[in-house]
Amino acid sequence: MSFHNAASTRRSTSAERAAASPWMRAVSALTYPLSPGDFIDSLLPHTPRAARGRVEHIERNGLDAATITLRCPRGWHGHQAGQFINVGVDIDGVRHTRCYSISSAPERDDGCFTITVKAIDNGRVSNHLVDNLMQGDVVLLGEPTGEFVLPTELPQKLLLIAAGSGITPVISMLESLQAKDRIGDIVVIHSAPSPEAMIFGSELEQMAQRHAGLTLHRFYTQHTGESRHAGEHRGRFAPAKLSRLCPDWQDRQVWACGPDALLQSLEQQFDTAGIADHLHVERFRPALRAAVPGEVKEAQVQFSRSAVSATGNGAQSLLELAEASGLSPEHGCRMGICHGCTTTLKAGCVRDMRNGEVFNEEGDLVQICVCAPVGDVDLEL
Ligand SMILES: Cc1cc2nc3c(=O)[nH]c(=O)nc-3n(C[C@H](O)[C@H](O)[C@H](O)COP(=O)(O)OP(=O)(O)OC[C@H]3O[C@@H](n4cnc5c(N)ncnc54)[C@H](O)[C@@H]3O)c2cc1C
Repeated sequence: MSFHNAASTRRSTSAERAAASPWMRAVSALTYPLSPGDFIDSLLPHTPRAARGRVEHIERNGLDAATITLRCPRGWHGHQAGQFINVGVDIDGVRHTRCYSISSAPERDDGCFTITVKAIDNGRVSNHLVDNLMQGDVVLLGEPTGEFVLPTELPQKLLLIAAGSGITPVISMLESLQAKDRIGDIVVIHSAPSPEAMIFGSELEQMAQRHAGLTLHRFYTQHTGESRHAGEHRGRFAPAKLSRLCPDWQDRQVWACGPDALLQSLEQQFDTAGIADHLHVERFRPALRAAVPGEVKEAQVQFSRSAVSATGNGAQSLLELAEASGLSPEHGCRMGICHGCTTTLKAGCVRDMRNGEVFNEEGDLVQICVCAPVGDVDLEL
């Protein structure tokens, strides 16, 4: 995988061009590590501000991922293992927000927590965090949130399934159980392209060695060498393999985080077995369906408050269209769970790409990260 500056992945917007001017660069140098806007905010104590976290440490994790240690902001109330947080960064003068699961355990007591970010091809924020972030930098932080957590009354038997960066909430759960000395009968299935690319590979191995109740299965999708250890498998993990790997899978409560294809096939298998309620999943990307090809030929989208318009074809979300037009609307998860991007429909028709629901009444609240225009649209944005 190649690493490159996020700014090189698309044409610069006017805000970016302004930020790149010598004058803005000089101002940014004076206000570092805060952006000029945040610096002004910090002088205005009555202005509501997002919490800020200072980067204490950055460590490579796997081939293209990094674990970033952040100092908890003032007023931090802690998190539950498995929850995520919104992280905001300014890249070339434009603010971007993404969600990251907290990868450390809530029991960590040095006033810090970690997120672990995997750089993805053409990813604006992930590449910036992995490649450009430095110790001493400051990022904006939301409140920890999310339902992908273990219940207080821990099930007798757990099955934890993770692929790629999907291990991040799972490692937090395991570290937390370990800190509370509550690791009982747990089967962990973890997939990565190769041993080198496996995030938290050695941490999991150490845990499995330390706790007799923890059984670890590792799948390497691109690794063709000999298996070195029991529990190492070549090829892709598929739910059909559960009966062999974990014969009592139907008796277990399962937490799974990984690509949508894996989660969908797990959902299908648990549904067929009549135990859909045993399965708890976390998605890092929404399962979105674009309009039927050809259905939406051209839709004019008016962002009224900003006096900007864009042309959509039903395949791009309203958020993507706004960003491509140089706007930076407020948003968080980009997958319809945090409602941070909700705005009001003034006229026209949009479709929620997750479930096909249509919104066409003036005043409808629209989540622009998961909605696409069906025809011409006017939005209060
Ligand atoms: C609840 C939640 C928790 C998350 N936790 C983590 C975490 O712990 N670690 C982590 O690395 N990421 C995590 N993510 C994903 C993260 O929020 C970003 O989506 C990811 O870092 C990509 O952002 P980007 O700006 O680099 O890519 P963008 O610039 O937004 O997208 C670039 C391209 O990559 C595609 N893309 C976007 N997201 C993904 C993805 N997740 N996988 C593959 N392709 C993608 C886009 O469709 C686009 O084509 C989480 C997401 C959610 C919703």
